[in-house]
Amino acid sequence: MVTHITKATSLSPERLKQVLQSAGRMDARNSCTMLPNRIVALLFYEASTRTRLSFESATKRLGGNTLTMSEAKQFSSAAKGETLEDTVRVISGYADCIVLRHGSAGAAERAASVSQVPLINAGDGNNEHPTQAYLDIFTILKAYGQKRFTSEGIKILFWGDNENSRTVRSLAKLLVSHGPALGIQIRSIEFFGPNGFGVPPGDVSEALAGACNLMLHTKPPRLEDVDVVYVTRPQRERHQSGKKLEVVPFTLQLAHQLPRRAIIMHPLPRTDELPMEVDGDPRAWYFTQSDHGLLVRMALIWHLLQK
Ligand code: ASP
Repeated sequence: MVTHITKATSLSPERLKQVLQSAGRMDARNSCTMLPNRIVALLFYEASTRTRLSFESATKRLGGNTLTMSEAKQFSSAAKGETLEDTVRVISGYADCIVLRHGSAGAAERAASVSQVPLINAGDGNNEHPTQAYLDIFTILKAYGQKRFTSEGIKILFWGDNENSRTVRSLAKLLVSHGPALGIQIRSIEFFGPNGFGVPPGDVSEALAGACNLMLHTKPPRLEDVDVVYVTRPQRERHQSGKKLEVVPFTLQLAHQLPRRAIIMHPLPRTDELPMEVDGDPRAWYFTQSDHGLLVRMALIWHLLQK
């Protein structure tokens, strides 16, 4: 049966554990021949830097090849009126795997329903971004590996536009459903963001309620016992016009209030919500986090495509 990754929980905890273990063994600098002659199609209807290029690099590092269609909205047959389903059905005859980014929530499920090869959701509107959640979890496990966190469980604070961020949705849900099986104990998950944008969507709160301590803050909370701060940018491209968001930056002054063991994460790209002054702080892990994207995507492609 073909495995599609449309949401973070598409992989069982056991299978995700295997992928993350493989990611730890991948070599980001040297190419290998683990997947010779396999072709991964990158079908991107929305802007991307890290996700597209790390998938491309991952495929090539494994010895495979890529077919790339970026700006697909404008340059694929979508511009002539072709449906996503038809495009995906056709490309699945040309490639061994499809990585899809699309502006509409639910697009990945629709595409997977017609794809003959594994389809990986690389972000569908404000819905999900599973591979980002995998590399985020991998990063948190690395911090465990450095003995930054204890077995008491970690407190995670999502800081930013939690209402519209697909990375927040995927990571928060994955943490409660798969975290314990992967060795991540959760003390609490908290959310803060500017004027209403900090509250996550209903399905996220529902998934978390009962599974962990859940707190929604309307003012910046105390940071002294936070283990992971996950900052996100205002998702302006998804805001209804007229809805104004005042960014509350996570400044160096705030970073200094965190315990030394804490890590600051961000899926990137960042805008004003995470000033560059934070980059030199030893708790700034966001570039390490983006480096992990290559390893995790190499491992995922390998798991999905090996014979
Ligand atoms: N790169 C991430 C995404 O595609 C985060 C962001 O754009 O804010 O969702």
